[in-house]
Amino acid sequence: MEVYKFGGASVGDAKSIKNTTDLILKSDADQLLVVVSAMGKMTDALEYLTQAFISNNDESFRILDDIKAYHFEVMHQLFPDAQHPVFNDVANVFVEIEWLLEEEAIDPPDYIYDQIVSIGEVASTKIIAAYLQLAGKNVTWADARNYIKTDNNYREALVDWEKTGQEIQRHLLPLLEKAVVITQGFIGGTSENFTTTLGREGSDYSAAIFSACLNATALTIWKDVPGVLNADPKWFEHTEMIPQLSYHDAIELAYYGATIIHPKTIKPLQNKNIPLYVRSFIDCQRPGTVINAQHTEKPVPSFIFKMNQVLISIFPKDYSFIIEESLSDIFNIFHKHKVKVNTMLNSALSFSVSVDHDELKIKNLINGLKEKYHVKYNTGLELVTIRYYNKDTITRVAANKEILLEVKSRNTCQILMKSS
Ligand code: ASP
Ligand code: MG
Repeated sequence: MEVYKFGGASVGDAKSIKNTTDLILKSDADQLLVVVSAMGKMTDALEYLTQAFISNNDESFRILDDIKAYHFEVMHQLFPDAQHPVFNDVANVFVEIEWLLEEEAIDPPDYIYDQIVSIGEVASTKIIAAYLQLAGKNVTWADARNYIKTDNNYREALVDWEKTGQEIQRHLLPLLEKAVVITQGFIGGTSENFTTTLGREGSDYSAAIFSACLNATALTIWKDVPGVLNADPKWFEHTEMIPQLSYHDAIELAYYGATIIHPKTIKPLQNKNIPLYVRSFIDCQRPGTVINAQHTEKPVPSFIFKMNQVLISIFPKDYSFIIEESLSDIFNIFHKHKVKVNTMLNSALSFSVSVDHDELKIKNLINGLKEKYHVKYNTGLELVTIRYYNKDTITRVAANKEILLEVKSRNTCQILMKSS
């Protein structure tokens, strides 16, 4: 039993869908579950639609029409027969949203968000399943909301592992014995059957949940890069492919902001010792990266860049020491404003952190902190995290730059500096 996961880029247009379905057709797995994201940038478009609807902007129907047109354009390229049932099937997915848009937006915004944004995955999987059927493959479309059971913390739902495991074992496993199953990433359902989502980019996590509950032999995430690279080519000229990574290193890299896999993906796989392959859907002959329990002898140093950082330094007004009590008070203020700390350092009289510069959030946070503390801050910074650093790697990223903060542990070094 294997699980494949395809992200938005691998189902963004008719050509990519053909490539994706080819990979599925070529698979030699005895049983196969395929987890798919929304097409291309459709989740962004659906977010935009939700925003328009909530703010009562009359653009919402126009935005929905564009989203529909995009899907239908791709379907026309894939299905020459305009009578093919997929057209009706996908149209019905959109009708539900039209009904919703006709009402007033009185439900809580996060609930509305999940009901609207989730249809991206529902539509894409209907198209993929129908296209595979057309190619003669025996496939079943399955609704992930019946299997991934969550609480009702909309937009960031928490998985109920017990119920999820039961549903998957009882109802999904029998389907997999008969056919390849196509299902959605990113979405789940509450016990009252309302749709939830697991957080942006959450399809990797969905695939890991399915893999763990099915005791799969492997999960493969198909991407538009050859595997896990030691840096994002967007920021770095010479990148290296990492052939093998331990679960531990993969979690650390994802935690520090490597965007290759969703940070929650590794734990369920590690717990069941299921290897994760990250492979290229463009160059599918290449082996890619495997993430497993094995510790790497000579790990390749990895670089994670976070731009647009703010350094906030916090000082008690009365010159008292920064001790456990004040730290816990400061962290509570961060928690209240939902600001995640990317790196931190404390001295006797100050506590400094680097955070993403989300303007509104940071303004409110600083105002909150100022009630009790003196606060200084610098914007326009970049944070580089180097895993398995050495002198050369530090020089490579920090040469000629003004460093504001440097934090080192045994394997990880974080440098906060002025962006040039
Ligand atoms: N479609 C969702 C998103 O773009 C989930 C995913 O792609 O993993 O956030
Ligand atoms: Mg996506």
